Amino acid sequence: MGSPHALLLPFPAQGHVLPLMELAHRMVSHGFTITFINTHFIHARLLSAMPTLTYNSTNPSINFISIPDGLQPENDRNHVDLSKALITIMPLHLEELIIKMMHEQPEHCKPTCLIADESMAWAFDIAKKTGLRTSAFWPASAATFTSMRNIPKLIQDGIIHQHDGSAKTPGLIFRLSPGLPTMNVDHLLWNCLFDSESNKVLFNCINTNKESIKNAEFVVCNSFYEAEKPLFDYLNSLKILPIGPLLSGQRFGKPAGLFWSADTTCKAWLDEQDVNSVIYVAFGSLATSDELQFQELALGLELTGRPFLWVVRPDFTGKAIIELPKGFKDRIGDRGMVVQWSPQQEVLAHPAVSCFMSHCGWNSTMEGVSNGVPFLCWPYFGDQHLNQTYICDVWKTGLKMIPDENNMITKEQIRDKVEELLVDGEMKKRALEMKEIAIKGIEKGGSSFENFNTFISAMQV
Ligand code: UDP
Repeated sequence: MGSPHALLLPFPAQGHVLPLMELAHRMVSHGFTITFINTHFIHARLLSAMPTLTYNSTNPSINFISIPDGLQPENDRNHVDLSKALITIMPLHLEELIIKMMHEQPEHCKPTCLIADESMAWAFDIAKKTGLRTSAFWPASAATFTSMRNIPKLIQDGIIHQHDGSAKTPGLIFRLSPGLPTMNVDHLLWNCLFDSESNKVLFNCINTNKESIKNAEFVVCNSFYEAEKPLFDYLNSLKILPIGPLLSGQRFGKPAGLFWSADTTCKAWLDEQDVNSVIYVAFGSLATSDELQFQELALGLELTGRPFLWVVRPDFTGKAIIELPKGFKDRIGDRGMVVQWSPQQEVLAHPAVSCFMSHCGWNSTMEGVSNGVPFLCWPYFGDQHLNQTYICDVWKTGLKMIPDENNMITKEQIRDKVEELLVDGEMKKRALEMKEIAIKGIEKGGSSFENFNTFISAMQV
């Protein structure tokens, strides 16, 4: 008999592809052959971010292939259009691909299981139809997962409207059950995406997914039990297995699935900085800033008087050319470094980094936690507000940046919060305690380690 052969299907976004790639690497180290199925669009992005990369030769056990996402290359891949296209077009292509592989591949190479992102839940129906074992991959927190699984309860309790999931009482703070973290109805995943149309599409999608997900044997989740204990206990019957933090294979010199090539010159710059001195500023792959706030952030970093490493993606302000405040570069000199994309996990692991000004995407959250770095939280949308609640109110390893009456985070607030965070050694202390727990969990005998083995054993047969 050949090795087990898993098909891995990510949702086509950076924060989903990265952790699933790490899962792929881990599965390879347990004897799996992997076929990693991106959309054509994402496949091309990965290759252009690493032009010299020959994924297949550096990873003989991972075969990268792609299928259409239903949009033309020149189309805008906004959330609404992409979600609609994915669900209409991709299932046909995936099913065709699996059937073809089943027919054409020799017996010992045929696919044996399918691991798909929870957001692509239609894939579990295809797995069932084609006789593959299947599990879901959830790249975010158990808290967000729980809110999605409890939509009927939220409707029944009069918290959200049945037709679109919007708030009945805007701003309402509630708990799904005693002992669980508080949630704000406005910050439920489907209530704070990019715009109301995206919200509606996501709400419908979540509702559609709930039937298909029953076909998945496990939901493996990029979190760890100790980080969200009450939630995992609450979800007990759902076969959700926390196996995180899934740290990117990039750290171990393997392709990580980055959409931009990382500017590694910042590592030499970090080497020259004092230990525990640098503010690392990065807002993930999707968040954008308006021009005024962008300028204010630059001035705020200047005002801190501390060294900083700031990731400004080329599309961060939505303008073709990003303009820093007049004279900024001269005034800052070597004290600050601005890059378009950083090797974030290596940055966060660097001893020079003192804190992480972050949008609180779940991957960034897990990466900050795994490296014992305290946060300055600046959430934008989606699950980021709920992740902020974890960081600031549950784990107490960070401070909230709070927009003023003009919806601005001022340069003075930036300076003051940085000072408050860094002067208060307690945050750092708790961050280091969390790091220890997180790392223990993925080591032999730890909770995530054991859960991963449970998942692997089931998918191996
Ligand atoms: N990232 C990176 N370099 C950067 C900024 C981000 O490698 O300069 C990675 C980061 O390590 C994380 C991912 O991009 O793994 C972003 O995922 P996250 O869930 O934090 O945010 P999203 O992009 O989904 O909003």
